[in-house]
Order: sequence, then structure tokens, then C-alpha cells
Amino acid sequence: MAEFADRVLDWFDRHGRKDLPWQVRDRYRVWVSEIMLQQTQVQTVIPYYERFLERFPDVVSLADAPVDDVLALWSGLGYYARARNLHRAAQAVRDEHGGDFPAAFDAVVGLPGVGRSTAGAILALADGQRHPILDGNVKRVLARHAAVAGWPGTTATGNRLWELAESRTPHERVRDYTQAMMDLGATVCTRSRPGCDACPVAADCRALAAGDVAAYPGRKPAKARPQKATTMVLAVAGDAVYLERRPPAGIWGGLWSLPETDGPAAAWVAEQIGAGAGRETAWPSLRHSFSHYDLDISPVVLELGEPPPPAVSADAVWYRLGEAPPGGLAAPVRKLLDTLRDATNGTNG
Ligand code: SF4
Repeated sequence: MAEFADRVLDWFDRHGRKDLPWQVRDRYRVWVSEIMLQQTQVQTVIPYYERFLERFPDVVSLADAPVDDVLALWSGLGYYARARNLHRAAQAVRDEHGGDFPAAFDAVVGLPGVGRSTAGAILALADGQRHPILDGNVKRVLARHAAVAGWPGTTATGNRLWELAESRTPHERVRDYTQAMMDLGATVCTRSRPGCDACPVAADCRALAAGDVAAYPGRKPAKARPQKATTMVLAVAGDAVYLERRPPAGIWGGLWSLPETDGPAAAWVAEQIGAGAGRETAWPSLRHSFSHYDLDISPVVLELGEPPPPAVSADAVWYRLGEAPPGGLAAPVRKLLDTLRDATNGTNG
């Protein structure tokens, strides 16, 4: 079987992309394209790239422009830190490299927004210098082909993939090989439903042989979500329940909610409302998920059995079930009030 790189190059000769507007021997142009392509598909990038190069034909024109002009041309591409870094890096090239985009790897990798893979890609694509690259597409091809387990964000897996990227990069035709690997990942070895039938390295692809392509590259382990717990007090007097308005900042800011306590519900009622406790019923807990944590709510119903004392402030009301609520309600509070209303109707009916 031919070497890995030979098969990839042979595939490139037949199927690779050779007419992209940034396929030129110009480090500045290749750099701009690489930054645009970091989070964005080729077809989306092309018109942005063309407008950008028309307005900023060289690195000094970019460095001298107001950052607002750069951001305006980036508008719609997203991930605006890329544009700000591009502008800062252009100024560094103007001020520290005399306006010539550097050709030395160490100088390129030191520019804002340029990591090891991007620096390698710029120098390989523009100059044919031999540097490995490891962008998301290449990681996927290499991890599947060699069945490299683990999430590439870990040091061990990342190092293993860099070793593979380095050892597979040929000494000839580096420019074509680099473009080919990016194309292969983008068009054949795609994230879902890769086209293994059309893949030049399928014959010794270990993930394919194991019938387990979807397992590579390994996924980032999900972080355990923090869990918090609270008790919500449903202090009920007749057909009214006590509600409080939450402070304007924080979760459910400004919404009306049931009072919360981390102690016994009866003690809260005695202290805060000044009512003697009546019958107490614990309801099954319910979970509410926020973006960053789960809140387990233990509702406790306290039937006070006496007419409600007046509300103590503008941020507290005795809300009569069945009437319009005093304002916005947090979702789990609405649910609990609905349950209470159903229970009350059931009792009455
Ligand atoms: S054979 Fe399939 S899984 Fe393996 S590298 Fe090629 S496209 Fe990717």
C-alpha cells in the first residue's frame, strides 16, 4: 500500500480544491483566509474574503484602518475576537516586522490569534514550508484513521495527534498535502456520515475497520452540573397564597415567587408573616434547570387556617388563586400555583 501522504496527494490531484481565491503564494492573504475559515465554512467565507482584500489589499492597509472598519467588514461572520486579533496582529507586523508578514514560524505563531496549527497552515500553504497542521478537520481524519482514543483537548491525545500530523506530513508537495488534508476532513471524513467509500485512506483506517467511526475523535467529557436545593413555602390562607417579588438582579429577577427558606417552613411563616402554623404538607420535589445548574425545589404547603394578615411591603402580596397574578411568575412557581389551585378546587368541589 502506498504511503499515507501519497494516497492523500493522489486524491488531491483528482478531487482537491484548486481554485479558492486564497490559493496564492502570499502569506498575508493566506493568513486572512485561515482566520476567516477557523469557525466558518468555505462558501460563506469567499465573499467576505473578497470584500476584505479589496478594502485591505495588504497588511499595512489593515493595520492603519480603524478597528471599526475591520469589524464592519467582518459583520455577519461572527466570532468578532478573530477580527480584533487580526487587526492587532497586522499592527504588530507593521510595527515589528516592517510591514512584511513574517516567514519564520516562531514569529508567526506569536501573533495575536495565531496558534500552532494556523501558523503551520499559513507557512505551508503560502510558502510550501514543511509544518504539520491540526485543525478540527485534520484532527478528525487522523483520530479516525489511527483510532486515537480520547478527547483531543487532553494533553495526551493532543500530543499523539500532533505526532501523527508531523510524521505523516511529506517532505515534498507540502502545500498540496496541507490543502488536501483540510479538504478531506471537510468533504469526505465529515463529522456525521463520512464518505468512507470515497476516502483514499480507507484501506487501513482503523476506525472504519472496527466499525466504530462515530467514536472518533473522542468527545469532551460533560461537566457534572452543579445541583442546588431550596424549600419553597406555600403559605395558604383560605384561597390566598403568599407571594414575594424577587430582587431585580439575580435569577428570576423582578419576578413574583414563593418565599424560599433553608430552614423549617413553619419557622419561616412565624417569623416573616407572624402567622401561627397550621397543617403542613410536603409535596414531591421538582427540578428546575438553569443554564449552569439544576435547582431541586421542595415545596411545603402550610395551611394557616386564619385570615391572611396584611402584606408587609409592596414586594409581598396575598395572591388570590384564580385571579390574575401580580406580575411575571417564575416557571416552577406557576406550576406550583396551578397544582395548588387544582388541589383547592378539588377540595372545594
Ligand atoms: S475511511 Fe472513513 S473514517 Fe476513515 S479516514 Fe476515511 S472517511 Fe474518515
